[in-house]
Amino acid sequence: MNKLQKTKQLLKHHYLSNDRPLVVTFSGGKDSTVVLQLVIEMLLELKREGQELKKTYVVSSDTTVEMPIIASYLENILESIDIFSQKEDLNISVNLIKPKVEESFFALMIGKGYPAPNQWFRWCTDRLKIRPATYFLESLVKKNQSILMLLGVRLDESVSRANSINSRELNFQGLSMHEQIPNAYVLSPIKDWTTLEVWQYLNSKSAPWGSHESMMKLYSKGATLPDGTVRDGDADCNIALNPEAPSCGKTRFGCWTCTVIEKDRSMQGMVQNGEEWMKPLWEYREMLLDYRNREDKRNHRRRNAQLGLGAFNLDVRKELLEKLFIIEATNDFLERKVELISTEEVTIIQSYWNNDGDIENSAISLAIKYGRDIEIYQNHEIEELLISMELNEESKTLFTRVYEIEVARKNLSNRWGILGEIEERVENYFKGQFIEN
Ligand code: SF4
Repeated sequence: MNKLQKTKQLLKHHYLSNDRPLVVTFSGGKDSTVVLQLVIEMLLELKREGQELKKTYVVSSDTTVEMPIIASYLENILESIDIFSQKEDLNISVNLIKPKVEESFFALMIGKGYPAPNQWFRWCTDRLKIRPATYFLESLVKKNQSILMLLGVRLDESVSRANSINSRELNFQGLSMHEQIPNAYVLSPIKDWTTLEVWQYLNSKSAPWGSHESMMKLYSKGATLPDGTVRDGDADCNIALNPEAPSCGKTRFGCWTCTVIEKDRSMQGMVQNGEEWMKPLWEYREMLLDYRNREDKRNHRRRNAQLGLGAFNLDVRKELLEKLFIIEATNDFLERKVELISTEEVTIIQSYWNNDGDIENSAISLAIKYGRDIEIYQNHEIEELLISMELNEESKTLFTRVYEIEVARKNLSNRWGILGEIEERVENYFKGQFIEN
């Protein structure tokens, strides 16, 4: 029996031996595509044999800051799989999981001013990947008592991957337990396959739901680095979906905003290889990297009022939001318009800015300026306050700037230093006025 037949037999054995549903973690990369295709072929075979099909889940993750080309590829392929499954009555549930809008990358970075992530303050992985996947998988376990997750990981991907796979304790059925999710079993059905065998399989068998063409194209686009070398590895770092995933920020198709790696050689390589649509995204990422390291772009107090580099200041956050809208408005990403930030995120950002003293509805106003259909949030309390104070426009602006400091520290018991901060801001304000005049 050859390796392919053995893998098929293994899958069939686990499918038929209990009621536990299969959960295929699908990144869209070559390895998870092989696993998904093998599962779908098995389901078709079982259906021909007259077997009743239990539920199978296909789960993908979208951080909402995926490269637009990857996000649209994943969406399209999931749609094709769903259509195929319904047509063939395969009892497959297709799921694309996303972070909560209030925990999205832009809500936290532009809304709350979290500095773009780095190795030491990597606030994103948990919120964008681990939590959404964990919530979803836990809900499946709750519904089904237990699940069997199928991973497309392989020993020959790298030494560290092999070590990680080999370090997992297997039960008598060859299954391991997911470390974070109770009652989630894990099987890596193609762990012994070589890269060559993966490509041979994909080249010899077209996808039941359509074709592998778009995936192949993505690999050819992303594979060449600026120095001409070819990078291998799968396309995801879905840590919760895939406990053996490579560490986040090191994969070819991570978030386009990722500043955990200093140099995104893959993105740079794609720009140099003529993927012009990616250039503004690459420049935005470079800007994030630069701003994160600059004192003048950050508050000089942390949210706990201690001295030290804190959040991106409000002016920087406004600039970052406007730049996103400009990129959106002035670029066709491979001949289609893409929303880089959702309107829901803008609403959340505005609520975070309100807490930081933005009384001008700046986020909403920017969204409207760039054509979003969104309503101005009316902060009647502040409006009434400003009217009652009968301030002229210049004084209103100064009041707003001072009010930002007060609101940002309203819940802190230690208000030491607040007067100095207000004085500094008033002084700077008038210096700015003087320069402008
Ligand atoms: S790819 Fe980068 S930005 Fe995205 S979650 Fe991972 S570390 Fe964070």
